[in-house]
Amino acid sequence: MTQSYKMALSIARNRNRGCEVYGCLNHAHGFGAFCTKHHMRRQRFGHPEARPVTRRDLRPYRAAVAAFLRDNESHTAVAAAREFFQTLLDTSRLTTTGHVKSSQKLAHHLAYAKSQGTDGTQLLTEALAVSALAEDQPRRFKDDQHRLFVLARRILQVSPLCRYGVCGGRPVYVYAAMGPTILRELSRLIQGRMARFLIVAGQEVIKRMGLSTRPIEVTEPFSSNSPKQQVSPTP
Ligand SMILES: [Zn+2]
Repeated sequence: MTQSYKMALSIARNRNRGCEVYGCLNHAHGFGAFCTKHHMRRQRFGHPEARPVTRRDLRPYRAAVAAFLRDNESHTAVAAAREFFQTLLDTSRLTTTGHVKSSQKLAHHLAYAKSQGTDGTQLLTEALAVSALAEDQPRRFKDDQHRLFVLARRILQVSPLCRYGVCGGRPVYVYAAMGPTILRELSRLIQGRMARFLIVAGQEVIKRMGLSTRPIEVTEPFSSNSPKQQVSPTP
């Protein structure tokens, strides 16, 4: 049996399986566990059941972040975070098309953003707006990977890489796909340096917006039918 025949057979077998997303009646796609729709969602947003976070969703947070950054312009951590994004832009180079590593693809996106006039402050604002949303509406994100993919996507969409394409005989702008490798690469860089800063600053932003971040404390036991299952107070 040739390799390609084996692969075709295994894809055909896989098609008989259903998509693993609860309630989805579609067949699985390729070798994967999900149907085409849920597979694509996972590629784009980091989770098969994830929903996108749009520019519009971030609008209220972006304004609060801009005010926060203005008021803390000389704060050491804020300056370092701005510097981090500015360095990402400054050290990125455009690459030729073809098969290149994910880090080079990411650099291409960032170098393009810089050529369009994007600066470190804009990227930091977008990153903090996503963090503020995550602090305010944690249920918006299915898991950590979903949040990180959204973070990376929003940062790259500050100035989306586009090229000319043709649609129905007319020239149009086509946004270049942001594959999971690029998103993973960027979120890895951000997490490595800024994980804690984004959480703390995101909490500060929503506190300023008047949205409380304080966890609900359990100071006394809940009433229960069984006296053995009492909730112990938090220390
Ligand atoms: Zn599905």
